[in-house]
Amino acid sequence: MRIFSKSFQDPETIILAERRFDVSVSRLKRARRLTLRIDTNASRVKISAPASVDEALVHGFLERNRPWLERQIAERPDLEIVRDGSLIPFRGQDTQIIIDPAVTRITFDDADGRPSLRLPRRGEPILRLQHFLVDEARRDLTTRAERLSNVLGRPFHSLHVRDTKSRWGSCSSRAGLNFSWRLIFGEDRVREYVVAHEVAHLRHMDHSPAFWALCEALCPPDLDIDWAKRQLRENGKRWHALVFDGSVA
Ligand SMILES: [Zn+2]
Repeated sequence: MRIFSKSFQDPETIILAERRFDVSVSRLKRARRLTLRIDTNASRVKISAPASVDEALVHGFLERNRPWLERQIAERPDLEIVRDGSLIPFRGQDTQIIIDPAVTRITFDDADGRPSLRLPRRGEPILRLQHFLVDEARRDLTTRAERLSNVLGRPFHSLHVRDTKSRWGSCSSRAGLNFSWRLIFGEDRVREYVVAHEVAHLRHMDHSPAFWALCEALCPPDLDIDWAKRQLRENGKRWHALVFDGSVA
């Protein structure tokens, strides 16, 4: 059985507690023994191994630690595994996930006032759903960032969506914007605020009164910034807890 590669670039996977985890092995010259870490949010298992240890040994080490790994997952009951029939927030609306053999691509349906995302059965539907959501987030955030940076008259250099943990967005000194793809779970106005916030950093790299005045000016007049921040605070934990059948770095 092929379990993993030797680098972080092309990880193999392991199924633990019905969830798929990427496994990566880093070979460290100075490592004296095998060590193991699990990141349940990112669905990742990381092994550090001395350079001399062969793959069979690493494999045995991983198998021996399987009970410990499964215990770590069980201790994080807050994680919510998305399945056929799950209700997840999508653009702020509770949306049912339905695997539907009749559709050939992921389709949003709101015909009867009950929003659903219908997924083709072929392949790995839930993993495809995550890719779909990441793409939706990228498109939505890019459109907003382009519009607001035009208003400001300051272009941004790049825009990336990632699975960031501690921050919903950031702006680098080189005008690089970064956002969490999980913002797609929130209402449009939450993303509008987060984008206005980061675009305002294209001019002010601080949180001075001048920054906040600009951020407010970039937001629509009826957007309550405190409300948007509260949305992130109150819902963010759940947005991070949603686990799809795989992970997107
Ligand atoms: Zn900021």
